[in-house]
Amino acid sequence: MPQRPRKHILVTGGAGFIGTHLCTRLLQAGHAVTCVDNFWTGSRDNLRHLAGHPQFEIIQHDITEPLRVDADEIYNLACPGSPTHYQADPIRTTRTNVLGAINMLELARCTGARILQASTSEVYGDPEQHPQTESYPGSVNPAGPRACYDEGKRCAETLFFDYHRRHGVPIRVARLFNTYGPGMRPGDGRVIPTFILAALSDEPLTVHGDGNQTRSFCHIDDLLTGLIGIMQSEDSLIGPVNLGNPEEITIGELARQILEITGSASPLIHAPALADDPKKRCPDITRARQELGWNPATPLDAGIRHTVAWYAARSASNPA
Ligand code: NAD
Ligand code: UDP
Repeated sequence: MPQRPRKHILVTGGAGFIGTHLCTRLLQAGHAVTCVDNFWTGSRDNLRHLAGHPQFEIIQHDITEPLRVDADEIYNLACPGSPTHYQADPIRTTRTNVLGAINMLELARCTGARILQASTSEVYGDPEQHPQTESYPGSVNPAGPRACYDEGKRCAETLFFDYHRRHGVPIRVARLFNTYGPGMRPGDGRVIPTFILAALSDEPLTVHGDGNQTRSFCHIDDLLTGLIGIMQSEDSLIGPVNLGNPEEITIGELARQILEITGSASPLIHAPALADDPKKRCPDITRARQELGWNPATPLDAGIRHTVAWYAARSASNPA
């Protein structure tokens, strides 16, 4: 007898970096998956490997407009993840975060779906507390160039908690820290794909500022395990929950590590620091460890080697 899909799951932003991996993982687990995307920073091409899958469909839709599709669960990922892209059209970014959250929460309210918000470490802004716990309220500049994303995500969290308190919508809020891995498109602008692609083509690696700012990078496979774990967790764990790898590194050190792994002779050059660029970022993941038993398993060095191999193979098969 053919197996029935276990759940119908909607993934907004399903054609982007994390969304593509999430759709793939959920289909592998036997669920029916609907990707909702307007292809702002994602593309159908990212989902080519799922074309023809009987339990997979794509709906081209902008979440700033209402949507009515029945679902058991909704992962709300729709929003550009890269500073380059979310700052390119900041009003559209705020609209996506705020109107998009309202529309997806209304959908959850009407259908009874459980809904997870992909929030971000950017809600902590340029943090004065280090590492960042979920109880830290953050230090965000509401007038700066990152605010469309940071404040948009903060407002989305507010909406999630208010829909939960007012309407009993079953929510989950995950705060994702920097995530990397195969599948980030060239031109994405985020630091790991940018450095790897520069190193592989012997172009300079541009470090903004003095390179002493830190980030903590989580491999996509670990992130997905945490994200799905939060969605499946008991109602007592609605969040917010930090998801990230607490292995912290300076951007200068990251550049040197990528040069070493790729064996590249690319030079390091410096450019002015970006406005409001957080100086330190590292998650305290005690809550995820204790309540989900989640722990990132991929060390940065191994994750970068794996990602470099993916980009090298991609360049070899598509030199253009
Ligand atoms: P991405 O830019 O690769 O993907 C975002 C996807 O959302 C794209 O497919 C894009 O076309 C789609 N989208 C954007 N606006 C939309 C709209 N109005 N309607 C429908 N679709 C829309 O980004 P990503 O790295 O995959 O990030 C996914 C989510 O995770 C984002 O919400 C981001 O804020 C969050 N997040 C990511 C990271 C990270 O390091 N990757 C860290 C923290 C939070
Ligand atoms: N960065 C850099 N060179 C680049 C891209 C990014 O030095 O080509 C730095 C950026 O200034 C920031 C860090 O790397 O300090 C992480 O940037 P990214 O855009 O990946 O993500 P963020 O954490 O800032 O959202």
